[in-house]
Amino acid sequence: MKITFKNAAMRLISVVLFLTINCYSTTYSQNKIYTKLDTLRGTVTKERKWWDLKFYHLNVSVNPEDSSIIGKNSVQYKVLDDYNVMQVDLQAPLKIDKVLQDNNQLEFSNEGNACFIKLIKKQKVGEINEIVIFYKGKPKIAVNPPWSGGVSWKKDSEKNHYISTTCQGDGASLWWPCKDHQYDKPDSMLISITVPENLVDVSNGRLRSIVTNSNKTKTYNWFVSNPINNYCVNVNIGNYVHFKDKYRGEKGIIDCDYYVIPENLEKAKKYFKKEVKRMFDALEFWFGPYPFYEDSYKLVDVSYTGMEHQSSVTYGNLYEYGYRKKDVSKSGWGLKFDFIIVHESSHEWFGNSITSQDLADMWIHESFGAYSETLFTDYHFGKKASSEYIIGTRANIKNDRPIIGDYNVNQEGSKDMYSKGANMLHTIRQIMNDDEKFRHILRGLSKNFCHQTVTTRQIENFISTEAKIDLSCVFDQYLRTINIPVIEYSVSEDILRFRWTNSIPTFNMPLKVKVNGKDIWIYPTTEWKVLKVESDPEIIVDPNFYVTAKNL
Ligand SMILES: [Zn+2]
Repeated sequence: MKITFKNAAMRLISVVLFLTINCYSTTYSQNKIYTKLDTLRGTVTKERKWWDLKFYHLNVSVNPEDSSIIGKNSVQYKVLDDYNVMQVDLQAPLKIDKVLQDNNQLEFSNEGNACFIKLIKKQKVGEINEIVIFYKGKPKIAVNPPWSGGVSWKKDSEKNHYISTTCQGDGASLWWPCKDHQYDKPDSMLISITVPENLVDVSNGRLRSIVTNSNKTKTYNWFVSNPINNYCVNVNIGNYVHFKDKYRGEKGIIDCDYYVIPENLEKAKKYFKKEVKRMFDALEFWFGPYPFYEDSYKLVDVSYTGMEHQSSVTYGNLYEYGYRKKDVSKSGWGLKFDFIIVHESSHEWFGNSITSQDLADMWIHESFGAYSETLFTDYHFGKKASSEYIIGTRANIKNDRPIIGDYNVNQEGSKDMYSKGANMLHTIRQIMNDDEKFRHILRGLSKNFCHQTVTTRQIENFISTEAKIDLSCVFDQYLRTINIPVIEYSVSEDILRFRWTNSIPTFNMPLKVKVNGKDIWIYPTTEWKVLKVESDPEIIVDPNFYVTAKNL
């Protein structure tokens, strides 16, 4: 019996309609004990909630000679509620010197990295106000950038300073004072970085001006005209040389600016132009228009492997295909493209434009980011290649902890958010069985949640609604548990018996199997079901589904 997908979808919808509640879901702890400081860092506290971030002007001088920084951040905000204590964050050993509002010096107190500022002026709902935070010190040195953040004070091969900041997870308060929580982004931002006159700073957005100062320094003013995540704000200082290119994208011309150290210039000219074109061709096709045309696109040489800094993607992948010349899928296809250019640029859509409100939902960044590698492979090398790539990445999955972390304590989930999350998306694509529809949903996500912060439920519900398939038990299974569903089956003459085990109780994901070489859909639940098939058939579960098959 061959069941068409339309029937499959209809049947699934009707099953779902008759179930009064969604699939059972369990929240697993990440096995960590949290402190009050974790709560202050990860919660939208009363002291954060009452004000909406509008604009930052971060103005910092960097002194490479003693690895120190000094500066100020002007924070413009809209008053949402009448309250007069404001939380900003700055991590030790950096210190806030003073805070001003309307030139009045304000009192503040610290609890760990949280700084509580007592405002004098009455905060009227709807008003836009500004505070200016002055700070200085020697920021934490990055031990293993970008995973363990801070500042990297390096030298290039010609002994020039080669400095960069990274802070995802640790938080931007590692090097500048800010509202260090993902739920709120400024609408725009000016980044002014002062460096020794022989060096160049590259930050996010477009370079507005370079000001020559009297003390042998220069100030680089970069303006970001779109909302930006704190952790995407970055400083890269070096003996950079610049060249540019243009990409003709879906919404017009994307200005591509490349900043590299001189020794890489000749190879970068060829390599970046070619690889960035391949990246945009594939990613705009699948995800829709690049979300930051106004702010341009950049690749910036750095001393670490790379990071998705918004409109300023940092690059240190050796100008070679793969991830530091390695194929993360071991299928061979991972050596057909530059992992960092594809993966980090994909975060412009998922991570930078669409940002999870809580770090616990970081899968929204990394699962789509990791799946972009498969979509890139699909676009350039076809379906079979991309299938081999995504299946190959399963070897990286640990199933140690759930993908979704613990909420309100700045705790991300398992690193499985990369390969397992991508395999979940690939599995969902199989259930839809319609690549055009799947692509439409990806582009719909980009459009619908453009430049916003979101919860996992918003993303899950959007995909289910647009697909017209209730996928809640699939999300619950793969994002909230560590168990990979097992399809148990047995054949007796012409009767195929099957059921899901190792799953949440109401798991009812449809599955494509080959029976004697013919594709059919089956609709297992956790109860045994039977289906009449040809006698003694050969049964092969479609390997694109991330499940385990067990022939009893
Ligand atoms: Zn990533």
